[in-house]
Amino acid sequence: MKDSFHLNTKIIGLLGHPIKQSYSPFIHNVTVELKKLDYIYLPFDVPAANLKNALKGMIALDIKGFNITIPHKENILQFMNDVSEEASIIGSVNTVVNDDGKLTGYNTDINGILESLNPYKDDIFGKEVSIVGAGGSARAVIYTLIRYFKPAVIHIINRTEQRAEALKKYFSDKMKYDGIKTKELFPPDLVGIFSNSKLIINATPVGMYPDQDDIVTSLENSFVKDQIVFDLVYNPPQTKLLKLAASHGAIPISGLKMLVHQAAKSFELWTNEEMPFDQIYKSLQLFIGD
Ligand code: NAP
Repeated sequence: MKDSFHLNTKIIGLLGHPIKQSYSPFIHNVTVELKKLDYIYLPFDVPAANLKNALKGMIALDIKGFNITIPHKENILQFMNDVSEEASIIGSVNTVVNDDGKLTGYNTDINGILESLNPYKDDIFGKEVSIVGAGGSARAVIYTLIRYFKPAVIHIINRTEQRAEALKKYFSDKMKYDGIKTKELFPPDLVGIFSNSKLIINATPVGMYPDQDDIVTSLENSFVKDQIVFDLVYNPPQTKLLKLAASHGAIPISGLKMLVHQAAKSFELWTNEEMPFDQIYKSLQLFIGD
């Protein structure tokens, strides 16, 4: 961790509420140390009602850039001077660059998803995929799949089916993609859909600490050999879903990879410097005790 900083140390950070559980300060400050850069990454706990004033403060204090997390990822768009095309389509910003008071919003979760799935691009092309969840991160996942991976069918499975329906309509209008099918989350029905899917993604918090014994389906015949199973949950890094899928020969991808990849892109946007992915990923695993 950073043990000294100077009068001209540049500040980057995180704006959200609550932020106590975040690994971002670790990821960015270790990167700064490894690369011997003059930055410090600070967490700012800002409840929803204080967002507008907090942004004025970020500009006044010349904070060079910051991540945005719950509950501000959607609400912050109205305060941006500019928004990247991708963040604008998804309607969610997780990274802001402050260029002398001009705030530009980006969504680097897309890069996190893209980098995590890129090794399997050819496997996913033209196949059926399943996503559980229809919230903010599901939007980023669906956008990334349609734009970069072109699956034939995307099943959106959600506890509240209307939200899945809304995403289907949104993406068929916005991206002219007509391969989305929706389903209410009901584990016995998942067996057929999951076992026919080349890729399964959990974009819900199910399985996240302290409820790490939860799983979207514990039905073993949902998983098959060489299937790819990506859990956006990063704490614990190996969720119950990933362990069950791997025990049936599936390829597990941890949300921890996405977390470091999205951080790497944010860091690059703020500093023009590359994050040493492998070193940071290993340090984070040690830090978490994985
Ligand atoms: P969100 O916008 O609040 O959406 C949550 C989704 O999960 C909704 O579809 C919700 O269903 C569903 N859900 C919540 N609790 C559920 C339960 N007990 N059973 C079944 N479905 C449930 O959240 P989000 O921002 O998309 O985040 C989802 C997860 O992704 C979180 O765990 C977050 O930490 C993780 N994430 C990871 C990364 C990374 O870098 N690895 C990045 C972003 C997010 P309803 O529509 O029915 O409410």
